[in-house]
Amino acid sequence: MDECVRAVQAVEDRLLGRLRELVEVESPSHDKAAVDRAGLLAAGWAEALDGSVKRHKQRQFGDVLELRFGPARSRQERVLLLGHLDTVWPLGTLAMMPWREAEGKIYGPGVLDMKSGVVMALEAIAAVKELGAERPVTLLLVSEEEIGSPISRPITEKLARQCGAAFVMEPAQGLAYKTARKGVGHYQLRVQGVAAHAGVDFGRGHSAVLEMARLLQAVAGFTDLSKGLTVNPGVVRGGTQSNVVAAECVAEIDVRIVKASDAARVERMFRGLKVTDKACTLAITGGINRPPMERKPGTVRLFKQARALAAEMGLVLEEASTGGGSDGNFTAAVGVPTLDGMGAVGAGAHAAHEHVVKQHLVERTALLAGMIASS
Ligand SMILES: [Zn+2]
Repeated sequence: MDECVRAVQAVEDRLLGRLRELVEVESPSHDKAAVDRAGLLAAGWAEALDGSVKRHKQRQFGDVLELRFGPARSRQERVLLLGHLDTVWPLGTLAMMPWREAEGKIYGPGVLDMKSGVVMALEAIAAVKELGAERPVTLLLVSEEEIGSPISRPITEKLARQCGAAFVMEPAQGLAYKTARKGVGHYQLRVQGVAAHAGVDFGRGHSAVLEMARLLQAVAGFTDLSKGLTVNPGVVRGGTQSNVVAAECVAEIDVRIVKASDAARVERMFRGLKVTDKACTLAITGGINRPPMERKPGTVRLFKQARALAAEMGLVLEEASTGGGSDGNFTAAVGVPTLDGMGAVGAGAHAAHEHVVKQHLVERTALLAGMIASS
């Protein structure tokens, strides 16, 4: 591992320079032109590494970039590195939250989630090439991960099936790699009632708000903490005035599951919801969007290998699981051993204090290079 560390140390300035460049190209998920500008930077860096660039062109979102490196054929299986170019931050955020270094931390929109991951992946591939340990690598950079990967999911799944392992460049959890993630679902309940004047015509009204309250009571009962299944009605909108019996009410509900087998159970429970007031109607949309990334033997094997490489570097690598989803959920669900959280160390993803801890950038990139070379 010493060579990996030395190879990355030698390019630390380039790594930091690229990270700053990429952070300073803002790339909110919904702005195609902006995300494409970030993609152009990454594609240029890939080409400088003799990578091939395939653009999966998109109309609504930024293009999805499939970057291929190393020999087309090898004894080693191809490995998939997964990243996303988009961030949750709207254009103009840089004015309030500029690139800033202080006390060993680097701040900026998307610096942790996950522009550092994109740059680390490219530098790890460069280090492997420098050391003559090349193998077939696909780096997939999607454009809309932060809004659930609506268009890139089939591309991710298809490319994952061509690979023996998937490494996800999402931020670390503490210092740990992630070996399990919950599955994520979203449901919307829409109740249509009958409006009436609350003083004059109360008896003729059928309240969508009251009906929703009853339904949410039932929905809350779907939570099963012993199974890690949670159901959260995070948003409710309904009614117009306190003196009007509400004609409409909408609830947005977040669902998390640990076991893939719970997806069908959740779906059955939601589809089984019934109104009590028969004059109200209920429409249910949504479903499980990301299957869970379960802690499978292939993933554990990859983690043990990473832990051994980290030990060679004098580091203690820990293992973590999280309730948050990533594109690693998709690669794991198609049966590809997936290690997640291989990106930067830091805190404040999606928050104003988002930052990476500078001292870990080189060692984490070297560890990734070691995993590419030897997994
Ligand atoms: Zn992310």
